[in-house]
Amino acid sequence: MILNIDEFEIQVYLKKIYNFRLVVKPDGNIYVSAPLYADVAEISEFVVKRLDWLKKTVEKINVPQKKSESQIADGKKVFIFGKERILNFVSAEKNGYELTDENFNVYSKNNVAEKIYENSLKIILTEKINYYLQKYKIGTGMECSSFTVKKMTSRWGSCNVKTHKMSFAIDLVMMPEFCLDYVVLHELCHTKVPNHGANFKMLLFTYKPEWKSVKEFMNKNRNLYI
Ligand SMILES: [Zn+2]
Repeated sequence: MILNIDEFEIQVYLKKIYNFRLVVKPDGNIYVSAPLYADVAEISEFVVKRLDWLKKTVEKINVPQKKSESQIADGKKVFIFGKERILNFVSAEKNGYELTDENFNVYSKNNVAEKIYENSLKIILTEKINYYLQKYKIGTGMECSSFTVKKMTSRWGSCNVKTHKMSFAIDLVMMPEFCLDYVVLHELCHTKVPNHGANFKMLLFTYKPEWKSVKEFMNKNRNLYI
């Protein structure tokens, strides 16, 4: 459905969502996503209330300018847990993201797309780390006291053997999920065994007999995903 409001032509998408969202693509296309039950009057009202913002945002796009980092990244392919998605940076009134089967949409106001993108990756990864920590806490009794997600260049994770504080590499969000599963278990095993000796390997083997092939997969295929 297309709505014509003021001088704007707005594409409407009805989706299984609760909130309305108005976005302006870098190419100037405008669209609204709205809940399935929304009617034209409601959608129009939503847009009319935001006309000032819409005018300003469209004006900014029409001024020729040096391409920003986010405009360069827009449309590029990224892997999220091993599945390829198209990265879309969209101007919106509210910061946030949406992960669909094919797309990774990053919504941002005031051209902070890069930052929102990185935060979204952190949120997505943190949620999964919590899931695997919980899974192994129940399955093994091993626990982490707290963790951070950050850029790590030479390792996938680390564990402080005294405090059981852990760090995980943000790049794990791009690898297939079984990789994160392994890294979480690996760091948890360090709460029992500080080094990578025979006892450590035995512990890993107990909870993940296929751990060696996962480790090999990660070493071999890192460049495919990141
Ligand atoms: Zn280790």
